[in-house]
Amino acid sequence: MMGKRALNLTDELYEYLLQVSLREPEPARKLREETNRMLLSAMQSPPEESQFIALLVKLIGAKRILEIGTFTGYTTLLMAMAIPSDGRIIACDIDDKWTKMGYRYWEEEGVAHKIELRLAPALDTLDDLLSRDYANFFDFIFIDADKENYTGYYERAIRLVRPGGLIGVDNVLWGGSVINEWNQGPDVREIRSINKQIHLDDRVTVSMLPVGDGLTLAIRNK
Ligand code: CA
Repeated sequence: MMGKRALNLTDELYEYLLQVSLREPEPARKLREETNRMLLSAMQSPPEESQFIALLVKLIGAKRILEIGTFTGYTTLLMAMAIPSDGRIIACDIDDKWTKMGYRYWEEEGVAHKIELRLAPALDTLDDLLSRDYANFFDFIFIDADKENYTGYYERAIRLVRPGGLIGVDNVLWGGSVINEWNQGPDVREIRSINKQIHLDDRVTVSMLPVGDGLTLAIRNK
């Protein structure tokens, strides 16, 4: 029965959705499967979400992207394919343990030259960008790193994105635990806090989508 809210996505319905909509290039499929074999694979965005992000990138004609939290670089790969050949992605992660895996597939797809890795705590990278004239520079910023620093990432992202540009914030429903009051872990507290903050932030136009683990989209108002 059709409800007022989002459809209840059963396993079968989810499989159907993937079957009739997922267009996954071969290097992306191999990267996803290799990532799935690892312990932290839950950190990888579901493929239909990454495909949606890549569609948004194309829709807004993004050329300058900042990705905060790259992991094995699945979404990075799809975004790199969605931008023109002179487009650039600055991809932040803390070390190259996971990004090395992605790099092989970025190369295989011929998009590695569009991706510039910054291996450092992302707050430092963002401060460095701000100090070097990257304010108002990016068309799209995707926040998907350690949740404890979400507020710090968001506040910097607002300054780094151009007016009219788009910020995506991933995992904003955090497996549903945002509404479990007994859960007061640092990650979930920070996510609740950033959700409230963005809701009230009149610098942005906002929409929260029940896609993947919850995705907030915020356009920086001009
Ligand atoms: Ca994520």
